[in-house]
Amino acid sequence: MNSVILFFIDGLGIGTNQQSNPFFDLPGAEPLAHFRGVSSDLPFDGVVARTDPRLGVDGRPQSASGQTTILTGVNAPKYLGKHKQGFPNEALRGLINEKSLFLQLKQKGIEDSIFANAYTPKFFSETPRWKSATTCAVEAAGIQFRRFSDLLGKKALFHDFTNRWLIENGFDIPLLTAQDAAKTLASLSEDHRFVLYEHFITDKIGHAQDFTAARAHLPILAEFVRDTVSRIDLSTTTFILTSDHGNIEDLSIRTHTLNDVPTIVWGRNRHQIAQKIKDLTDITPSVLSLLADE
Ligand SMILES: [Zn+2]
Repeated sequence: MNSVILFFIDGLGIGTNQQSNPFFDLPGAEPLAHFRGVSSDLPFDGVVARTDPRLGVDGRPQSASGQTTILTGVNAPKYLGKHKQGFPNEALRGLINEKSLFLQLKQKGIEDSIFANAYTPKFFSETPRWKSATTCAVEAAGIQFRRFSDLLGKKALFHDFTNRWLIENGFDIPLLTAQDAAKTLASLSEDHRFVLYEHFITDKIGHAQDFTAARAHLPILAEFVRDTVSRIDLSTTTFILTSDHGNIEDLSIRTHTLNDVPTIVWGRNRHQIAQKIKDLTDITPSVLSLLADE
């Protein structure tokens, strides 16, 4: 059975080869390091598609509208007339409720989708005031959110995949290596047709312009990606890594960048898929075509 892993990294763009780019001269950052005009050989025969997050709308690309676009296939900034930061407003929530990728998969008979991120107990005990585009997209299809019990049972990952954030915030949860996390993510794709995983520390580091944190974090994140790809069956599984906008690749500014983002495709049908991806509206149709073509 074919499967897809969609690995969403918040705030990862294609930067230039200069000092304000934490990827510059950083060992171990492949396959996340991309520079304008420089083509890189990706491990496991991955293919990069330069992806436009600006979507024909003025202003800096933002998370709510970019993520809504990735998770619906609809040009959300154009729909709203602007890029929307943070969390989806009512209009975007309406769009997600109607067009969530999870819902579109369900309508095509693919019921077996999961959002791999585990939520803290607070999410279940209190109604969150603000919900991310991803949370809305999962809710729209009535898919269950993963809990700490799933995290402990190796059936989910925290957004900070090593659990460091949880441990620093007082939770009694084991610290994981990038390989431990990769094992879990890879195994989820054996049990489920579609797996979404979201990581957003990259965007936080970008806003903080924290060069030291970026240089420490990016090689571990890259290792997590490489190790996951190494563990999946690339003849049946497609691994798609993408982002909603640039940020961490240029720490000279505290805002998002106007750069393209890298969409990297490994595994089954990678060339056909990478060729079709030009902007963020192309992600949802790609996932649908990969899973509904049998
Ligand atoms: Zn941001």
